Amino acid sequence: MKDFFAEQPRIPLCFSPTPLHRADRLSDELGIDLWLKRDDLTGPGAFGGNKMRKLEFLLGLAKTRGVEYVFTFGATQSNHAMETAAACCRCGFKPVLYLVAVVEPDKDSLRGNMLLDALFGAEVHVVKMLPGETEGEADERALEMARKQMQQLEAAGHHCMEVPIGGSTHVGAIGFAAGYVEFKEQQEAMGLGAFDYIIHSTGSGGTLAGLAAGRALCGGKEKIVAVTCSMKDEGYEAKVAGLANQALDQLKQSGLRIQPEDLVIDRGYFGEGYEVPSEASTEAMKLLARTEGVVLDPVYTAKAFAGLLDYVKTGRIKQGQRVVFWHTGGAASLFAEPEIVGNLSD
Ligand SMILES: *Cc1c(COP(=O)(O)O)cnc(C)c1O
Repeated sequence: MKDFFAEQPRIPLCFSPTPLHRADRLSDELGIDLWLKRDDLTGPGAFGGNKMRKLEFLLGLAKTRGVEYVFTFGATQSNHAMETAAACCRCGFKPVLYLVAVVEPDKDSLRGNMLLDALFGAEVHVVKMLPGETEGEADERALEMARKQMQQLEAAGHHCMEVPIGGSTHVGAIGFAAGYVEFKEQQEAMGLGAFDYIIHSTGSGGTLAGLAAGRALCGGKEKIVAVTCSMKDEGYEAKVAGLANQALDQLKQSGLRIQPEDLVIDRGYFGEGYEVPSEASTEAMKLLARTEGVVLDPVYTAKAFAGLLDYVKTGRIKQGQRVVFWHTGGAASLFAEPEIVGNLSD
């Protein structure tokens, strides 16, 4: 296949291609042909995830700009922030994280991603939510605080780069366009026939934007279903399509366009909200673990997998259809605060 990405600055960070394997026992149980694309295994450490694909291009750009500090954002248990910290260690950048406390961390006993952030030596600023403040407002406030610090650093001669939540810029999305191309090459090399569905979890939208752009580049036919990890407003489809189109422009493929109505975004499975486990997500985690030995995370992938199971149950995915569940990672949040994890032990 043509190398669409050769001209883009890139630092190799992922062990790629990530595995693509069949889930034999669960396929039998569900009556479908279920495959797993294992972006939970991107590396470099045990806690990889989908952000590594974006960071290859984001940090590639940082390197061309002579950046010293990389600032990014998320919730305290953000996988993206942790992956950014890990990637910065590998590249020699200093990570600075502004993390909004949706669930209050115990600073004397750091857990999950926050523990890893500390291990990676990241400079962490926890932004406590104010009474009556929405998550969006807290995110805005975190951004303002970070920009002040960046201005001070720049004034002292240190170059900084701001990576937004989830690394979801068009540059980050290019990482997932490359991920889609990787999948197609793998499918071909393995001699696999056509897939009917790609199902994955969507948050900040960069993964979906990249997959949609990649599918356009390859002329792929799978239906991509993106299951949200929280409520998304009605502008979400347009935002993601915009990112995909900017990514295509950057790759000099402006003849290809993604329309908001091309995107299938399902808001039906996040339950009560972000970082709140649901009965269906907990059951989904147990089912995949107990049939395949594969671990999902409670915040993202378990909700998307609950969606997949419901699609099978309700016949939207038909018996015998071939489905790939794109596992985007997140395992570190299994070891986060109990209210995020849910009850997995019975
Ligand atoms: C960030 C994340 C997602 C969502 O990816 P976006 O590109 O932000 O939409 C899905 N799963 C996991 C485990 C994540 O960390």
